[in-house]
Order: sequence, then structure tokens, then C-alpha cells
Amino acid sequence: MITSEIISKKRDGEKLTRQEIDFILSSYLSGKIPDYQLSAFLMAVFIRGMDLEETEELTWSMMNSGRILDLGFVPGIKVDKHSTGGVGDKVSLVLAPLVAACGVTVPMVSGRGLGHTGGTLDKLEAIPGFKTDLGIEEFLENLKQSQVSIISQTKDLAPADGRVYALRDVTGTVPSIPLITASILSKKLASGADALVFDVKTGNGAFMQSKEGAIALSRNLIKVSKKAGRKTIALLTDMNEPLGNAVGNSAEVIEAIDALKGKGPEDLLEVTLALGAQMLILAGQAHNFHQATEILSEKIRNGEALNKFRQLISQQGGAPAVIENYSLFPKTNYQIEVKSDREGYVNSINTKEIGLAAVELGAGRVRLDSEVDLDVAILIKKKIGDSVKKNEDLATILANDFEKGRKSEERIKSAYKVTRQKSRRLKKVLSLVDEKGIKEFPH
Ligand code: URA
Repeated sequence: MITSEIISKKRDGEKLTRQEIDFILSSYLSGKIPDYQLSAFLMAVFIRGMDLEETEELTWSMMNSGRILDLGFVPGIKVDKHSTGGVGDKVSLVLAPLVAACGVTVPMVSGRGLGHTGGTLDKLEAIPGFKTDLGIEEFLENLKQSQVSIISQTKDLAPADGRVYALRDVTGTVPSIPLITASILSKKLASGADALVFDVKTGNGAFMQSKEGAIALSRNLIKVSKKAGRKTIALLTDMNEPLGNAVGNSAEVIEAIDALKGKGPEDLLEVTLALGAQMLILAGQAHNFHQATEILSEKIRNGEALNKFRQLISQQGGAPAVIENYSLFPKTNYQIEVKSDREGYVNSINTKEIGLAAVELGAGRVRLDSEVDLDVAILIKKKIGDSVKKNEDLATILANDFEKGRKSEERIKSAYKVTRQKSRRLKKVLSLVDEKGIKEFPH
């Protein structure tokens, strides 16, 4: 087969065969085709799309690029969750130990920051010593010991996703339904989870900005998972403002620890409990949403969820002392306040711009080989519906480079729209999508 012919075929909107999809991925992984050809292929898929059959083939091909784990030795239904990407989305850090504390095994394979969104792995690596690139045997041992482990896709587990993900991040090819579906499912299916909960973000900080796009992505994720024999549901959640108040790796870890201590922001708790409830229901540990949220809330109240996070940190080589002592996270050189130039109410926040401001500070990647600065952050002081006075802080920037800090100050300022009219606070969990259809949430 000829690579440029396959690229041209997709560029012209034609359907690719399983053999062509396998060929292009395996040739890329073995170094036979260079980054620029795969980038062109990804852009062709981005523009032309893929039908369900092609998406399935792409998913199987990426999943089969490594080992497929069998978690049969762990009793019970194993459940994982995955977000399609957001700004300030630290839900996995709270959710994985919380659900494991309820007795459900959570084999979590996560991603890094992508485009303007943050990634669970970068956040966890802000904990001194924390390792996410564990070998499979270590991952399995952790699940046996504590029912939870969070790792990256490795050279053994969905390696194709690791390589393609990094290239999409820097080539403008992230917001594509087939590429997101194959990326998420290749690693999730390989990890051996029996059931999956998807947090599909919608709004101006999501890859799928429109509700229709988010519903289409949810349906795709559900259909391909079903074909793979997994039970799944998706929650559509709002991403028209950052989730919680911290955007940036170590600041998000601190906010997640606060949430596990019962002191987290309300919106983060709302999304975490809604997703956690679906995980407990899929695992057969709760009959309904109300019962599930009671169980989850009690695990926060009695400290068991926090203890589980402590265990997770220790077993992955991190310093659990961060839980008690936030000063173990390095301080940044500069703190810049972003002030409002008018009085009124926060009407909207361009959340993608907030994510890009964080990337600009160094919290995300602009090139394949960019180093992430784990300590820079944006601390959101005003959210939608809040009143604000002239010169009051909208956000605080924690920067290590003054110039970058100043640039992101401008971005953040223009991301905020302050009006005289009061706006309503946003509901965070919008709808539930499953095989049968869509229901408004709560239902
Ligand atoms: N999360 C992933 O793992 N992949 C994507 O493409 C988007 C979000």
C-alpha cells in the first residue's frame, strides 16, 4: 500500500478499509512513515470525518497496538470514567479514589493535556515523585492491593494512542469525533474495564462546543463501546466556565485534595458525584442515583476517600505528605492579579481562552517536546453570576515568567464579559445519554 494514496483517498472523502487504517497506523508506529504524513492523514480525517465502521476499525487498530488486559482475577465489575477534555477538570483525581473507597475497582488509563485542556497525568505528576508510566504488572498489582491505579497508555498499552495523541495536540486535529472516540476507547478497552462512564463536555471550553456535537460524540462512544461488549453511559456536562477554581497542574491537585477533605468547590463536587453515582450503578453497588450519592458523600465525610488517595499516591511513588502540607508544591516567582475594569456581574467566560492562557503560562504543551511547568496556574476568583466591583480581582495568575504572566493577564481579562444584568449560575450536569436515548438530568 502507498501512504500518500491512503491520505489522498481520505482527503477526497472516501471510505477507508480496515487494511488501510491498520497499514497507516502500524507503519507510523514502526517508524516507516514520518510525523508529517500522519499529520496530513489526521487532518484529512478531521476534515472529512469517518463513518461508524471506520471509527470502529481505527479504535480496534489502536487498541490492538498493545496488550489487552484481562482483569478477570479482580472480583466484581471494574469501572472506569473518561472525560472528553475540559479546563480545570480535575474530576478523575477525586473520583478514582472515591469510587475505589466504595469497593469498586477503578483501572484508570488517562491522558495528558490536549490542546487548551489539561490532562490527569500532568496533574498527578505535579505530586513530587508520582509516577504514571507504570509497567502493566505494577498496574495490576496496585489494583489487587487498593482497587485503584491511574496510569498513562504505555509502550505496551495502546501505544498508538500515545503517539497519535501527542501529534494531534500540536497539529490542530483534536476536535474530531472519530479521532476522540478511537483515542478514548483504544486505551479504555485495553485496560480491561467492564463498564465505562463518559463525561462529555459541552460549551465554549470543550472540544465539542455545541450540545448537538457533544450528543453525537456521546452516541459514537456508546455505540463503539457496545460493539466491544462494554456497558456504558455518558453524562453531558457544562464547560462554559472552568470547573472549580484552579486551572494548572499543582493548583488542581490541591483543589482535588480539598474536595476529598469535603472542602472542594460545589461545581466540582456536583460533577464528581454525578459521575461517581453512574459508576456505582454500573458496578451494581447502588440501585439509584440518590442511594449512590449518599454512599459517595459518606466516603468523603468519613475520610475513606482521602485515605484511598493517600494509598494511590504512595503506591505510585509519590509523596503523600502533600495531602497535609501544600507547601511541598513549589511556589512560582510571580503572582499577578487580573482586575475587572468595570462593575457588574460576570455574564460569560471564554473558557477556551482561559485554557490557552494556562498553556501560554506553561501549564500545557505548544510543541511535541514542550516541557510542562507543573506549578504555574490561574486561580479563578469570579464565576458566572458573581457580582464584581471595578478593580476587583477576576483571577490570580501564578507565573514563573513575568512576560508570559502579563500576556496571559490580557487573555484572561478579555475572556471575561461583565454586564450590568445579573446572569444565572450554570447547571453543571445537563443530560444523560445511554443506548436508549437522552434524558435531562437529574431524571
Ligand atoms: N481524551 C482522550 O483521551 N482523547 C481525546 O482525543 C480527547 C480526550
